[in-house]
Amino acid sequence: MSQGTDAVHAGYRPSGDFRPMLPPLHNSAAYQFQSHAEAIEKFALRQAGFTYSRTGNPTVSILEQRVAALEGGAHAVATATGQSAVALSLLALTQGPKHIVASSSLYGGTVDLLTDTFADFGIRISFVDQADPAAWAGAIEDDTRAFFLESVSNPLCTVADLPAITAIAHEHNIPVVVDNTLATPLNVRPLDHGADIVVHSATKGLAGHGSVLGGIVVDSGEFDFSDTARWPQIAAPRVRLNNTSLLERHGPAAYAMLVRSKFLHDLGPTLAPASAQGILAGIETLPVRAAHVQRSVTTLIHELSAHPGIAAIHHPSLPAHPSHELAKKLTPKGTGCVVAIELAHPSLVSPVIDGLKLISLAANVGDTRTMISHPATMTHCRLSASQLADAGLNTSTLRLSVGLEDPADLLADLTQALDLALDQALAPQTQGA
Ligand SMILES: *Cc1c(COP(=O)(O)O)cnc(C)c1O
Repeated sequence: MSQGTDAVHAGYRPSGDFRPMLPPLHNSAAYQFQSHAEAIEKFALRQAGFTYSRTGNPTVSILEQRVAALEGGAHAVATATGQSAVALSLLALTQGPKHIVASSSLYGGTVDLLTDTFADFGIRISFVDQADPAAWAGAIEDDTRAFFLESVSNPLCTVADLPAITAIAHEHNIPVVVDNTLATPLNVRPLDHGADIVVHSATKGLAGHGSVLGGIVVDSGEFDFSDTARWPQIAAPRVRLNNTSLLERHGPAAYAMLVRSKFLHDLGPTLAPASAQGILAGIETLPVRAAHVQRSVTTLIHELSAHPGIAAIHHPSLPAHPSHELAKKLTPKGTGCVVAIELAHPSLVSPVIDGLKLISLAANVGDTRTMISHPATMTHCRLSASQLADAGLNTSTLRLSVGLEDPADLLADLTQALDLALDQALAPQTQGA
């Protein structure tokens, strides 16, 4: 089916006595077994099915199947947040502890996870310039077990060269994990371009209404984990599985089963069924929302770029953006809701933000409501001036997350705030009098 149809139907067909049209909310912690024999088989993971909702729930399962379909993946595991999806996807590859090569332009929460918590666990990270394939190759160590990057970075919307980076990884038998939160599968499907695993903060574009938190790990089922020395957690026998391996038992679903039956089970960041239902409802309108947002982004960029209060707009649709050519190939429909606006002077930042009447100052993306933030003092406030510069940002950069309002109203709000800020900047003496 096409993505528009999968967004509405994948993973669910009305069934049972009442055939509810809406994927039902199964709020149950546990599931009855019809016999002791059935319980034995299910607990031993020899028979599929639900035992206890920490590791699987029928409502959550519909979400997992829907996102797997949208991403073109084989298996998915939902988690409580995007943060836990990132953590579990990588812990399953790097326990030991091992080494990760990661893009230097990542979501702040991921940077904290990698540089602080993972560092405490002994997992080592090398950060590289995402746009430089040679840097990825050069950072590989003997025990590198994952590449990690974002398909579209935040807030500059740098598009990752997935074919080039995944080719380097696969030469070295390293799986590539891609955070596809900002782009959403509507704009790019990383698995189609060589990636092995996709993660999402479903809190953002998938849920789309700023009302629930959630995350998901999607596996292509195609990476070769059969080397027992390299991937003992998947290919070697485990005491916990009566001395069988996940690979023997689950074949191409082995990685997803590791995420679910070890990390989700043992650490417990489980998605609540009600949240899964909320995310499912959000996904139904994702294609329509993505198209509307794309049109609004185009309108705003076109109408605002000549404003004297703006030094530059950073967006792949513009020829000056470093990802302009790559974006034509990988993200032809757009890169999502984020636009980075660099004001003409840092002194304009506060007046513009405080002058907005419709657009809210808030640190979220992918909401129905348009939001603005100032990375240098908000999401990226822990970065030094040089780290900020490495990320392509400066103190004049604002991040806009375009929502579903009428673009004419958004344009009017931004224009009046920019005009007001410029008036104030040009007349500082009358301002102080
Ligand atoms: C928000 C976000 C996360 C973390 O997701 P939560 O749902 O907030 O835990 C991870 N990656 C990206 C790109 C994000 O925007």
